[in-house]
Amino acid sequence: MVSSLESGILTSELPLMEDFYTIQGEGFYQGHAAYFIRLGGCDVGCIWCDVKESWNAEAHPLVSIEEMVKRAKQSGSSLVVITGGEPAMYNLDELTRALNQAGLKTNIETSGAHPITGDWDWVCFSPKKFKAPVESIYTQANELKIIIYNNSDFEWAEDFAKKVNSECELFLQPEWSKEKEMVPKIIEYVKANPKWKVSLQIHKYMNIP
Ligand code: SF4
Repeated sequence: MVSSLESGILTSELPLMEDFYTIQGEGFYQGHAAYFIRLGGCDVGCIWCDVKESWNAEAHPLVSIEEMVKRAKQSGSSLVVITGGEPAMYNLDELTRALNQAGLKTNIETSGAHPITGDWDWVCFSPKKFKAPVESIYTQANELKIIIYNNSDFEWAEDFAKKVNSECELFLQPEWSKEKEMVPKIIEYVKANPKWKVSLQIHKYMNIP
């Protein structure tokens, strides 16, 4: 088994923090039923991270790709979201191959801090200030999701909007602890700059994972 970070070697097992069937609460697939596979391990270190328990990969059991895909298939979902942690730390060729073979749509959520591997139907790129993204993500991203924590983040968002490909969907999402302060600002910003859309973490309003 290979779980070494930044390894390009294929793996048949990955550290799994949790997997569950729920409603995607954010971004392009907001409101869609989706099976989530949350891999352990992240080296980005966002101060406001709401899944800090994901950071240490060794704290999470190694689970076979076969088992993960079996559970996802059994859920009845057609969409599988691979999240973390930072899932792009791993070689995901085998995982996406198995998901594709099972007829499941593959969606990665990544900060872009590592080159992504695997064959993806949808790439959600959510850059973080704590570790710069790699250049390759700009052409691969189907969706750019910027977390708005400070007023200066709107300008930061525009810097990324200039870099991603022209087909990329653009979302602004309030950081959860700043939601009351930032939602009115995001509403006004999107009205003035309609290339952007609002993304809310609606799973938190619905009290689901
Ligand atoms: S990239 Fe995601 S998991 Fe990693 S620290 Fe940032 S918010 Fe947390």
